Amino acid sequence: MTQPQTALSASRIKTAQGCSWLYWCKYKLKLPDTSNDGAKRGSICHLIFELLGEKRRKGHYDKIMETQDVFSVPSIKRLIMKHARRDEVDDEDNIQLIKEMTFNGLSYDFFGGDLDKPTKELSEQDFDIVKSDGKISYRIRGFIDKLFLYKKQKFALIRDFKTSKEVFKGKDLEDNMQDLMYSLATKHLYPEYENKQSEFLFLKFELDQNAKKSGIIRMEPLSDEDLLGFEMQLTQIQKYLDGFSEDDALSNMAASQGFPSDNSFSGRLLCGFATKKGELKKDGTKKWHCSMKFDFFYYLFKNSKGQAVGSCFEDEFSEDAVPEGCTYEIRYYKGCPSHCS
Ligand code: SF4
Repeated sequence: MTQPQTALSASRIKTAQGCSWLYWCKYKLKLPDTSNDGAKRGSICHLIFELLGEKRRKGHYDKIMETQDVFSVPSIKRLIMKHARRDEVDDEDNIQLIKEMTFNGLSYDFFGGDLDKPTKELSEQDFDIVKSDGKISYRIRGFIDKLFLYKKQKFALIRDFKTSKEVFKGKDLEDNMQDLMYSLATKHLYPEYENKQSEFLFLKFELDQNAKKSGIIRMEPLSDEDLLGFEMQLTQIQKYLDGFSEDDALSNMAASQGFPSDNSFSGRLLCGFATKKGELKKDGTKKWHCSMKFDFFYYLFKNSKGQAVGSCFEDEFSEDAVPEGCTYEIRYYKGCPSHCS
């Protein structure tokens, strides 16, 4: 069996399953992607969680808890504002949301002590695991926001922060790719922790299990048998994505999948309803659409072997953005074949 090539992550697999053309554009052509305000806010919250997860910053954490204000620590305020300005989410509404979501995440069992004192507490635990043995072959890569290990109970609590405006529903509740991926990674990294559970915290909601709409989603623990089944599924996905071609890119586009029958954001919904770039809704705001639906110019960065390694939109280009040792060229993307042919 050949060695796995593509590093599989939960988001990479979800993209491939959602739309083959979107996968081709993002991961093979390396086209630039638009990041929305929600994603930018989320990355700032994650950054603060990572910093305040370090023991030497416990004083900062305590002060924020005491004042109930993330901005009460000047260095944290400066950092949030610096990133918010860079990402253009420094208006009053966005800053308020960042402050509220960050405080919410910090307030909920941030050091994992509710169950017991954890033996180990890890922030941003990264993993890059290759398994190629007999019939199973895959490579998985990613990181876990917070991982608490309790030796006595042989228990690993896997925590992921979410800043989306809806909690999981439909398929995401029963067969969740992140849950499967993180549980499998934890099994590889800490095999002695036989019991594992993933916990997703949706920071826009009340982090109280008894709340009318709770932001805490605890997944059913996965058995070894479940994880073995996932490893077999990963082996198939690995084979498909390692050999992914332009023909594959045209074979399972979201636009051909119809509208979803459950509540999930999938199928044609992924394309968005805009029929042209910049189309407005009745209230004057822009209609959302998939970032690969319409045409655009972009700069492609290539390494010394001529391989595409990244890109940026035409209006975001500056020579400083070009990675070291790379060349660049301007290119035109003519839009998604399902909508722009
Ligand atoms: S517009 Fe629809 S079909 Fe085209 S890439 Fe986006 S999600 Fe896929």
